[in-house]
Amino acid sequence: MLQLFIPLGFLGIVYRQIKYALADMDLVFKLLEREPEIEDEPDAPALKLSRGAVRFEHVDFHYTPDRAILRDVDFRVEPGEKVAVVGHSGAGKSTLARLLFRSYDVSGGRILIDDQDIRAVTQESLRAGIGIVPQDTVLFNDSIRYNLAYGRPEARFEELEQAADLAHIRKFIEGLPEGWDTIVGERGLKLSGGEKQRVAIARAILKRPRMMVFDEATSSLDSQTEQAIQQTLAEVAEHHTTLAIAHRLSTIVDADRILVMDAGRIVEHGSHSKLLADAGVYAAMWELQQREREEAGVERP
Ligand code: ATP
Repeated sequence: MLQLFIPLGFLGIVYRQIKYALADMDLVFKLLEREPEIEDEPDAPALKLSRGAVRFEHVDFHYTPDRAILRDVDFRVEPGEKVAVVGHSGAGKSTLARLLFRSYDVSGGRILIDDQDIRAVTQESLRAGIGIVPQDTVLFNDSIRYNLAYGRPEARFEELEQAADLAHIRKFIEGLPEGWDTIVGERGLKLSGGEKQRVAIARAILKRPRMMVFDEATSSLDSQTEQAIQQTLAEVAEHHTTLAIAHRLSTIVDADRILVMDAGRIVEHGSHSKLLADAGVYAAMWELQQREREEAGVERP
């Protein structure tokens, strides 16, 4: 009898494992269904970039119809301007970047770049015009040269060097035992958070885009690295129309305009000093973050 129970018990375990695997597959399919493919309009023209002006016009957005994520979001980023977006986790900041890159289409309103609705132009031309520095940079198991050139594979080596210079990563690369040929990524040299971000910045610069989107990593870097990255971003932003999504307010005090988001709406906007004087959501966030920084031994900027 016992001989029969053992295989039956084993079959039970296998059955449960198959059931869980199928449940996972079900979830995967549901997720796939929920994220519709974005397709170009037939005969869509390429985006004609002139000065790189961005306009969100009364944008509403939901990932699923039962939950509004953005409501009536309306703002402009003028050519060459740096606009920062701040707000609590889940407020919808990164979603703005995803919509600008057209990873999703808006549910209401429009997004215009140089007066062209981004749904009416090819995705390829749109994405070529925007350099994105994401929260988490993916590095391929390949040389650092390959990883950087990924921004524009046909770029000349001198251009790689220039981009690495601007991103303040060139000295680091050239100091590696195998220099530009050093293999990085999971199976190679593991780069720190700050180094990875610099690779992402160099990649984005190499694309020579008119617009830059920085999505600051949530995980904090040590304060010296953070300051260095901040300086790099400030230099890069001087030459581009910039949308910076920030978690640490100290990184965006110099922005031309700051948008404060709460539950999918812009609830305050203005310069750092105006927002402090308004003594609203931003001022409260600023005070809280300063207190945290002081407790961690970082001086007020
Ligand atoms: P954080 O500061 O934590 O990065 P955020 O303000 O950037 O947050 P978003 O990433 O824009 O927030 O997310 C806004 C809301 O949308 C969150 O509640 C999130 O759970 C939800 N969300 C994000 N991506 C998806 C998705 N692919 N499908 C469904 N909901 C999503």
